[in-house]
Amino acid sequence: MNILVINCGSSSLKFQLIDAKSEQLIAKGLCERIGIDGSQITYTPTQGEKVETVTPMKDHTDAIRLVLGALTDEKCGVVKSLKEIGAVGHRIVHGGENFASSTLITEEVVEAIRQCNDLAPLHNPANLIGIAACRELMPDTPMVAVFDTAFHQTMPQEAYLYGIPYEYYEKYKVRRYGFHGTSHSYVSRQAAKLLGREYEELKLIVCHLGNGASVSAVREGKCVDTSMGLTPLEGLIMGTRSGDLDPAIIEFLCNKEGKSVGEILGELNKKSGVLGLSGGFSSDFRDLEEQFHKDADFAVRTMKAFAYRVAKYIGAYTAALNGVDAICFTAGLGENSGFIREKICAYLGYLGITLDPEANQKRGQDIDITTPQSRTRVLVIPTNEELAIARETYGLVK
Ligand code: ADP
Repeated sequence: MNILVINCGSSSLKFQLIDAKSEQLIAKGLCERIGIDGSQITYTPTQGEKVETVTPMKDHTDAIRLVLGALTDEKCGVVKSLKEIGAVGHRIVHGGENFASSTLITEEVVEAIRQCNDLAPLHNPANLIGIAACRELMPDTPMVAVFDTAFHQTMPQEAYLYGIPYEYYEKYKVRRYGFHGTSHSYVSRQAAKLLGREYEELKLIVCHLGNGASVSAVREGKCVDTSMGLTPLEGLIMGTRSGDLDPAIIEFLCNKEGKSVGEILGELNKKSGVLGLSGGFSSDFRDLEEQFHKDADFAVRTMKAFAYRVAKYIGAYTAALNGVDAICFTAGLGENSGFIREKICAYLGYLGITLDPEANQKRGQDIDITTPQSRTRVLVIPTNEELAIARETYGLVK
């Protein structure tokens, strides 16, 4: 069965068509600038050439119509008709406390996702538009919602409650939710495979280090803590997000700069993290790594602060798990930068970690980068959120 995976943003839409049985990618692509001048669709069949077309898309329904058109196109298409698409898997950012696992989409499910809009005002409405557009164009095709928050719903209360008046949890469900759940779930399962051990007997720490970054602690196949919170702003220092800070800083800066809470929060989301710490140099870790090697002060302080924060979370989660079997690195930076993995692991002598420098330079495969003597394993596992969504979808519709 072919599964269409849809990841809908406010003005963009990423898609992949995956053969669920063989888990092969058949085609993928991206619609950009939806509802804005200069909309463009990029479509890449695995067995063919990339096609880029600039064409108006007034809304997401237009975008999905173009995606389905490309997939069934006589020249560059990969299926003869829409009947060859067995199901659609939608990535949904926030499921609140309503969803602890993926689910078939019904009217009730759409309504329950809508109820979470307040918790993710930039993402959930866009995700819902994607669902509505697909349902309009493929009314008889089953659809599945796969939530970024679901994997973290197993966290115990002591991990998800904030130390604020309990009534705010009761009234508004203010608590830790966590994100990147599909990635943390996929990577932790792959880790068990790589280690040749049962998933349900392991203590794992997963570091998803991309532009957005989060760490999670997984015990016996269940998430017990994660670094992102009510929103993705909490936790690690990220590409442009600040991560953890003293909440009093917000009022302090509002007063000093004469800015509103909204403006400061905008800066914490878009102008902070490694971009902010480097004095505005770049949010891309590759640029900073290059400058680090040239001893540029701004890059040294930024990379050190980034690595230290990750190491601090690994320490906290080692305590939460009462030990750890393996630490897993994934996402753009975690998968590709031996340099940052080495910097982080330099803090972890107490775990008896010895890296294998040669293995630490390899890329694009699931790999153990420690020596046989290392007391704790360190793994690099390329994440594949689309494949994870296709697996979940297939599991529910087959
Ligand atoms: P997101 O999905 O959150 O946008 P990604 O997982 O694609 O992020 O990660 C993007 C980040 O990974 C960028 O900051 C980029 O610099 C970093 N990255 C990608 N490749 C490398 C590399 N070879 N070395 C260091 N950093 C890298």
